[in-house]
Amino acid sequence: MIFLCGIITLDLSPAPTMEFDTIAPEITLNGENPLIIKEGDDFNDPGAKATDNNEEIEVTTSGKVNASDPGNYLISYTATDATGNVATKSRVVTVIPRNHGTIYLTFDDGPGIYTATLLDILNKYNVKATFFVTGAGDDNLLRREYNEGHAIGLHTFSHNYSYIYTSIDNFFEDLYKIQNRVKNVTGYTSYLMRFPGGSSNTISSRYDGGQHIMSKLVEEVKKRGFIYFDWNVTSGDAGGTTSSTGVYQNVINRVIKDGNSVVLQHDIKKFSVAAVERIIKWGLENGYTFKKLDNTSFTAHHGVNN
Ligand code: ZN
Repeated sequence: MIFLCGIITLDLSPAPTMEFDTIAPEITLNGENPLIIKEGDDFNDPGAKATDNNEEIEVTTSGKVNASDPGNYLISYTATDATGNVATKSRVVTVIPRNHGTIYLTFDDGPGIYTATLLDILNKYNVKATFFVTGAGDDNLLRREYNEGHAIGLHTFSHNYSYIYTSIDNFFEDLYKIQNRVKNVTGYTSYLMRFPGGSSNTISSRYDGGQHIMSKLVEEVKKRGFIYFDWNVTSGDAGGTTSSTGVYQNVINRVIKDGNSVVLQHDIKKFSVAAVERIIKWGLENGYTFKKLDNTSFTAHHGVNN
């Protein structure tokens, strides 16, 4: 008989293992996230570090920042380890616009029935504006304008060309009348003013008996301590423009980049008030600062034509 003898050995040691790394590298961003830079500044990417099993490995970067075009950009960092595990991290780079000038929103002929809506919009964006008011509208609205931090200018009480431009006396009687109204309602004595029709108006020549009243009034108001303002950006809301979009387009196309813009609007016109929120958003996104007029502001004077 043949016995087959053998020794059966059991291999109890672990099976030969493939060391298989399933853990992705870890990426750490250098610098800030989001990273905020100013329009026109150089963008220097602070980069990122990646480690895998305690060893530093290479990071590849993708994405571009155009520092001359304000907005948000995304930079992505990717690291891949020896066994193909991938890690990705992103950084937001925000390019904020530089200050491109000042916009003075001004609203004439109110207060009126759309003034409350306008005040709510201005409040929402914490924008201060200037109201050249008349004898029209509710005292409470005038009070709100003042209490909410806006500038109150005078635009004559009657806004009646055929009365105010007949004589110097008529003009000042009417101007002091609105000054008193503002004083009585708000406690504030305003010396800021705007001529109905602006200082360049020629309509006054129909009523002034040939005395060239505007030439006299621009000097006389100064003598009496007033500062008059015209405008250099017209919204068109008193003339050919009758839609919100039209007002918005006129304003944003005419605003002076890197300068001062005094914008003429009327808060007695619903479509004009309805354009204000878009104008403010556009201005803020494009680096403009909104301010109210005061006695040191740019006056945007027109030439006198009568
Ligand atoms: Zn007016």
